[in-house]
Amino acid sequence: MTDTPSIDVLAIAAHRDDVEQTCCGTLLRMASRGLRTAILDLTQGEAGTRGTAEDRAREAAEAARILGVTWRQALDLPDGAIENTFPNRLKIVSVLRQLRPRVVILPYWQARHPDHAIVATLGYDACFLAGLSKVDTGALPHRPFKIVYASLYADVRPSFIVDITPFIEQRHAALMAYKSQYANQPTGSALFVPEEEIRERTFAEARHYGLLAGVRYGEPFVQKEIGLIDDLTLVPVQSI
Ligand SMILES: [Zn+2]
Repeated sequence: MTDTPSIDVLAIAAHRDDVEQTCCGTLLRMASRGLRTAILDLTQGEAGTRGTAEDRAREAAEAARILGVTWRQALDLPDGAIENTFPNRLKIVSVLRQLRPRVVILPYWQARHPDHAIVATLGYDACFLAGLSKVDTGALPHRPFKIVYASLYADVRPSFIVDITPFIEQRHAALMAYKSQYANQPTGSALFVPEEEIRERTFAEARHYGLLAGVRYGEPFVQKEIGLIDDLTLVPVQSI
């Protein structure tokens, strides 16, 4: 654990498969650029309608392999009841100080599932605390340089889009690694979208966000900070 090399991009999410649903095309793109990526899931998935925590662990490992991430682990926060408490912040601080990520991806702060919304603030607070030397976890302090919010399921205008066009099939394969969730089955059939519709829906969403930036498939992100620009000719926007 202690000899894990520094990570470039760490995605933190409430549930195993949240990252696959919202930002794993971006992780694939970063990995293809030679960057080191990682995923921290905060719960084990024991409250899911379908499958067990053990099913989810196995499926998350398979998805991690497809995504080429350097590191993936799950904490033991209660599924469906995540709270922004100091002990929970400290658990994330320990991971942040171990992995020392430059960029952290969090879920957008407004969401239907309360776990998703709370992870936005819990993760943000943990990133701040991780930089404080007086918060002693036995490891050196580390504060990520940048936090961005994966906003695919939020009704909000993105700050930027990541072009995931070359990775759309791999992204879909990573999501479908969660057979306990997405394969057709009687349990939860009134709640879950049929397997054959998942591809159409997820590709349509990615197409929508891609169109906003003039590419085929994209994933949307929100950043809170105002960008600082040095050279107007290098501002990364699509041509108009
Ligand atoms: Zn979730």
